[in-house]
Amino acid sequence: MPLSTRHHGKRLSLWINATLGLLLVLVSVAVVALVNQQMREQALAEAGAKARILLDHNLAIHTYFTHQLKPPLFEKLDPLVGKGYFEPTWMSSTYAVREIDQYFHALNGEDYYYKEGAIHARSPENEADAFERQFLDELNQDPQLVDYSGVRMLDGKPYFFTMRRGEVMEEACLRCHDTPDRAPADLVRLYGAERSFHRTEGEVVSVLSRRVPLAEAYAEADRLSWNLSLILLATLVLLFAAHYWISRRLLFAPLDRLRAKALAIAASETHLGEQIELPAGRELAELTAAFNAMSGKLHVDRQHLEQHVAERTAELSDLNAQLQQEIGEREQAETQLKAANRELERISMQDGLLGIANRRHLDEVLAKEYSRALRQRAPLSLIIADIDQFKDYNDHYGHQAGDDSLRKVAQAMAARLKRPTDLLARYGGEEIAVVLPDTAADGAREIAERLRAAVEQVAIPHAASAVAPHVTISLGVHTLQPSEVVQEEGLAAFIGTADGALYAAKRAGRNRVVAA
Ligand code: GH3
Ligand code: MG
Ligand code: MG
Repeated sequence: MPLSTRHHGKRLSLWINATLGLLLVLVSVAVVALVNQQMREQALAEAGAKARILLDHNLAIHTYFTHQLKPPLFEKLDPLVGKGYFEPTWMSSTYAVREIDQYFHALNGEDYYYKEGAIHARSPENEADAFERQFLDELNQDPQLVDYSGVRMLDGKPYFFTMRRGEVMEEACLRCHDTPDRAPADLVRLYGAERSFHRTEGEVVSVLSRRVPLAEAYAEADRLSWNLSLILLATLVLLFAAHYWISRRLLFAPLDRLRAKALAIAASETHLGEQIELPAGRELAELTAAFNAMSGKLHVDRQHLEQHVAERTAELSDLNAQLQQEIGEREQAETQLKAANRELERISMQDGLLGIANRRHLDEVLAKEYSRALRQRAPLSLIIADIDQFKDYNDHYGHQAGDDSLRKVAQAMAARLKRPTDLLARYGGEEIAVVLPDTAADGAREIAERLRAAVEQVAIPHAASAVAPHVTISLGVHTLQPSEVVQEEGLAAFIGTADGALYAAKRAGRNRVVAA
């Protein structure tokens, strides 16, 4: 069956699973990347919020010093210790915050940088760096500006920066920050007369600055992202496995069974009628049931068809045998008919008494040879022989003996002819003619002489003959010589001339040959 059932495309299951797998991987990568991004932003926001709390808290400590601690203490102590007294542990909020921060740092253990930066800071530890200096400028120019947070590079590493508007010079502060001679003598002795003087009221003098290495801020985000990714990956793998198992079991395996059976049927009809177990899903179950029905129906139809063909073939072969037999019978009849026809023809051409050609055959051959001789300008000779005094023979020996002798004469003459084209025939009564195609006059006379001698040799006794004591014949010979350009005489005249020569032989005394 020239039916191609092979298809060279990829398998459907491969398409679906590969597409789904790729899609799931892409989605996972996108989700993880997005989550990581969000987590990092979240981590930064949290770091910012945490820093703000710390900075706000520290600023609150400053405010407590300025508003609540210092004024009543100064009022009570000034008369006791005098204006020259200075003790930073409670008179400098900056000192206090710095010290508190160190305790906090020790408790907290977090890796961060904290500074209350100022330009010309009293303690060199608080001297603002370039970032803080710039933010201080911005704060003094923009009264609305409170804080800043963002990512900055420091010594080639990223840090998360948080800076907040710090102390604003108030009247109470100017006691130590106006001029060195107005400031306590102890303070000038401790810090010198250069740093952090000549401040003005309302001026923003410090910036609260906190920095966290970004790696730390991101570490949390990454850890979360990894956990999420693992959960996501596990979920997707489970999802894919579930999809693979379900589609394999419910869709592709039943489809494969259907496909294998269809291919088997297409390859060989011996599989027709075979059935497939119904799968679980309704759609495929219906498809399979339809396939089974089709397979069964085709099987039955095919069996009927085969039976029908076998019956018809048997009928046809019977008919054929019958026909063959009839043909055989007809051929046999034909062969018999041909044989009968041949026999009939032979009989119609032969003389029944003498067993040589008859007059009818002689006439046919002679006419044919005569016209051929003329056409081809070839010689044609005719001999007519007649038994001498045969009437007397009959009278003497009887008709029966006459017939026998006549037969012997004919046979003796026939035995002397060599060429297959020469024809010996009964001309009539006891006369025998010989047609010699392509034979000239000399040859014909010689043959005639040979025939005459042959009859003499048989030596059939003829007591009533006046010629010899045995049977003899006389022969007339005539030859047509077209090459000599003779006037055409016609067949009857040709025979007549030979006949004339025979009578001439009779007249001349019989038992001889005379040529015309
Ligand atoms: P010739 O020819 O010598 O002149 O004498 P003849 O007696 O033979 O004369 P003709 O040829 O005229 O005679 C023919 C005779 O031959 C007549 C008949 O008795 C005999 N004859 C012709 N046909 C047959 C035949 O078929 N059988 C027998 N037995 N005799 C025949
Ligand atoms: Mg005769
Ligand atoms: Mg005669």
